[in-house]
Amino acid sequence: MNRDRLVADLQLNKDKIWDVIVIGGGATGLGVALDSVTRGYKTLLLEQADFSGETSSRSTKLVHGGVRYLAQGDILLVKEALQERGIMLRNAPHLTENQEFVIPVYTLRDVILYTAGLKFYDLLSGRLSLGKSYFINRSRTLDRLPLLKADGLRGGIVYHDGQFDDSRMAITLAGGCVENGGTVINYFKVTGLLKNEEGKICGVKAFDLETGSNYDIAAKCVINASGVHTDEIHHMDNPEARPTIRPSQGVHIVLDKSFLQSSSAIMIPKTEDGRVLFAIPWYDKVVVGTTDTPLDTITAEPKPLDEEIDFILRTAGKYLTKPPSRKDALSIFAGLRPLAADPDNPTATREVSRRHKITLSQSGLLSIIGGKWTSYRRMAEETIDRGIKAGLLEKRKCVTKTFSFYSNVTKLRSERLRIYGNGAAEIERMIDEKPELARLIDPRLPYTKAEIIWICRNEMPRTIGDMLARRTRALFLDVRASAAIAPDIAGIMAEELKTDKNWRENQIEEYNRLILNYI
Ligand SMILES: Cc1cc2nc3c(=O)[nH]c(=O)nc-3n(C[C@H](O)[C@H](O)[C@H](O)COP(=O)(O)OP(=O)(O)OC[C@H]3O[C@@H](n4cnc5c(N)ncnc54)[C@H](O)[C@@H]3O)c2cc1C
Repeated sequence: MNRDRLVADLQLNKDKIWDVIVIGGGATGLGVALDSVTRGYKTLLLEQADFSGETSSRSTKLVHGGVRYLAQGDILLVKEALQERGIMLRNAPHLTENQEFVIPVYTLRDVILYTAGLKFYDLLSGRLSLGKSYFINRSRTLDRLPLLKADGLRGGIVYHDGQFDDSRMAITLAGGCVENGGTVINYFKVTGLLKNEEGKICGVKAFDLETGSNYDIAAKCVINASGVHTDEIHHMDNPEARPTIRPSQGVHIVLDKSFLQSSSAIMIPKTEDGRVLFAIPWYDKVVVGTTDTPLDTITAEPKPLDEEIDFILRTAGKYLTKPPSRKDALSIFAGLRPLAADPDNPTATREVSRRHKITLSQSGLLSIIGGKWTSYRRMAEETIDRGIKAGLLEKRKCVTKTFSFYSNVTKLRSERLRIYGNGAAEIERMIDEKPELARLIDPRLPYTKAEIIWICRNEMPRTIGDMLARRTRALFLDVRASAAIAPDIAGIMAEELKTDKNWRENQIEEYNRLILNYI
């Protein structure tokens, strides 16, 4: 992935008609671009900021069917997601894990209810099951979760779901597109839609945020995968378009692993106000969070609300013998869920379905709305199939069900490096040649200089934020440690990306502003 080369290609082929242009480089858009390019369509994806810079790097990091949605009776949604869970764990084994969860239970009713519910969850996952669920008694529950409060505890229900690194998965999808001949460019904003004499969409107007150049780019099929910005693109097509998105904000707090002291995650299906609470081990830390709050404003960097932070800490403290407080938060992050709204009642605050929606406007704009990370592959398949059905694309079969993101057969000295997929072996070779590259940049974070250099050369980071938030997860794992290494990171990036003198200072300043939202 080399931005200069990809932009130069785009300039050289100014008169080219792309088969597919995808607007938005989150989970949805990248999934669509990969589906499209692997079917053999000439594919271009434009992302206005960084890949997965918005919602897709701020998820709970679960590859799941959604136990909660089962309780809401959305069985088909859960079944489809469980199937996709299995496919994602098989196709991206280097970025996914089988995670054990325990639901603590306090009444006989809950023992029966959750045991039955999770048996059904197992059943729905069929051949792609990650392990059977079962009841454990009180003492075995406390063995697994030593910091769980014991008062009134009857036992626990053990079950399995998947876990992953969301932004690394996004970068891997982008890499997969480029490897297969697609063009994906970050910091390139779609500013308008091109229409022919019949009023049909035939391309996009776009703006390169790095060079300031404007482009008119022609395409047979334009796909809007812009997450919470979907309606902005709809308005470019039709200023009268009705709202289709209902944003809803979720907050997560990252704590030291000493707050859980377990490799099992805790899931509390019903807290004091009926919301879910979970505490999940992730990269040697614990991510604690709850379900979302509906919101009216859309921003690229949503701010965690005070009441959300207080709710999470207070509720975690009710269940854990070591209650966390604000000063224990290593990082706090918020994400906006692009839920598909009811067009007749777009601001309804009741639970909006997690199911995705594909729409085709009169002028031929395909939009893919809502859904979840886990289902990105299926959503992409359905979107391209819809483009075929609408006559925008010639018929070709989807191949992503068996598309493997990891073919590394080399035995790694450091298993941790496998998150870089087939690049891990190359990072180890760099360390063999220059052993000093293996030194940790900061003892609080797992990253070495070798990784930072390799990322600069292969994964298209353009800012320190790209490097610290999404290529590595430093911002999410420990915001203060990430700020401490920002000057070193800026130095390495400036050298690798051959930036001008002011870049380093500007980047550090910008990063110091960014982290305020995460502290
Ligand atoms: C708090 C929270 C927790 C979640 N947890 C999970 C989970 O554990 N598991 C799971 O499966 N799902 C989870 N989800 C859902 C999942 O994260 C989302 O469904 C998914 O990331 C949405 O991806 P997206 O590509 O549609 O949106 P985004 O990631 O927001 O991507 C849209 C992109 O479009 C770009 N864009 C917008 N306008 C333009 C333009 N004009 N030109 C170019 N680019 C543009 C934006 O910059 C953005 O990067 C969670 C969601 C939230 C909010």
